[in-house]
Amino acid sequence: DEQGPRPAPVRIRPEIAALPPYRQGKQAGADAFKLSSNENPFDPLPGVVEALRATVAVNRYPDATASRLRHRLATRFGVDPDGVHIGAGSVSILAQLMLAVSGPGDEIVYAWRSFEAYPGLVLIAGATPVEVPLTEDARHDLPAMAAAVTDRTRAVIVCSPNNPTGTAVTHDEFEQFVASVPKDVLIILDEAYAEFVTAPGSVDGMRVLGVSRHPNVVALRTFSKAFGLAGLRVGYAIGDSRILDAARSTSIPLSVTAQAEEAALASLAAESELLERVRHISARRDALAAGLRQAGWRVPDAQGNFVWLPTGADTLAAAAAFEEEGLIVRPFAGEGMRISVGEEESVEKVLRIAASVVQTLP
Ligand code: PMP
Repeated sequence: DEQGPRPAPVRIRPEIAALPPYRQGKQAGADAFKLSSNENPFDPLPGVVEALRATVAVNRYPDATASRLRHRLATRFGVDPDGVHIGAGSVSILAQLMLAVSGPGDEIVYAWRSFEAYPGLVLIAGATPVEVPLTEDARHDLPAMAAAVTDRTRAVIVCSPNNPTGTAVTHDEFEQFVASVPKDVLIILDEAYAEFVTAPGSVDGMRVLGVSRHPNVVALRTFSKAFGLAGLRVGYAIGDSRILDAARSTSIPLSVTAQAEEAALASLAAESELLERVRHISARRDALAAGLRQAGWRVPDAQGNFVWLPTGADTLAAAAAFEEEGLIVRPFAGEGMRISVGEEESVEKVLRIAASVVQTLP
């Protein structure tokens, strides 16, 4: 309203009072495709639903460290169980890591535009965000990010594939980057979309950690995207146990539910079936990106389960045109829109609307 928000009845930290809450992708009506949150369009597997049904002891607290899941992932990736940490979504682990390494006066470097939660999490930790613009082709500018590191830098986040532009960092680029950053700076490799990557030579955190064993690199992955468990909130970090111990210390106790742990275990038991779905989604993504490019859009290399449409100044109008046709996308005013790879039929529809939007925009 005209007077602006009324001040809270108690003193709120000024940086928090100025911080808008996390902006969620728009919900969709029953007859629309929800392509605004990079979710998995497939229904959960019967085995996953069964695991949830069987987990009924909700009067008991969950296992604080989700140790069965931790051990299972440790075996899966050939690491020590203490080198695995489970969180209520990988975004929780991001917050824990930032709280563990930074506070007032410290800096955290990341590319921009990237995942919308980064700036807020840095501010919550009390630290200062340092945003390094993406390159012309919407990729991380790793040399510029390395150059932005100062003696106040406590962490650098590398998001590959980058949300929302879709581009992946290469293995060689990443190795060079790690070599050019001081060893006492935490490097968070946010790989929420790792399973969708098909470009050869892309960075793979598990390979980096398995082969090069950089102690200051932590890889973040999630069950939300490829494994389709976004609603259950479960993600994990792989890295040096001493860094993950610090994340365990800053975590809110008991936030990973027993249901989330069971569903994640059931998903790992059905991993090959789920990865078959992922291959379908990646193929749809490639078809979508190719079709959009054919229609004249400059779509950057897309390695996640989404594509980036650079609609620039026309973004809000274009998003409204998509919505009119039952396609809910994620607009970033003045820049472009992120379109998730959804149901098979949504791909053809996106292509149809994108082609007509090109003609109708001012
Ligand atoms: N990192 C990136 C780059 C993301 O896009 C997301 C989800 N949008 C997350 C982390 C967090 O995912 P979750 O908390 O569901 O694991």
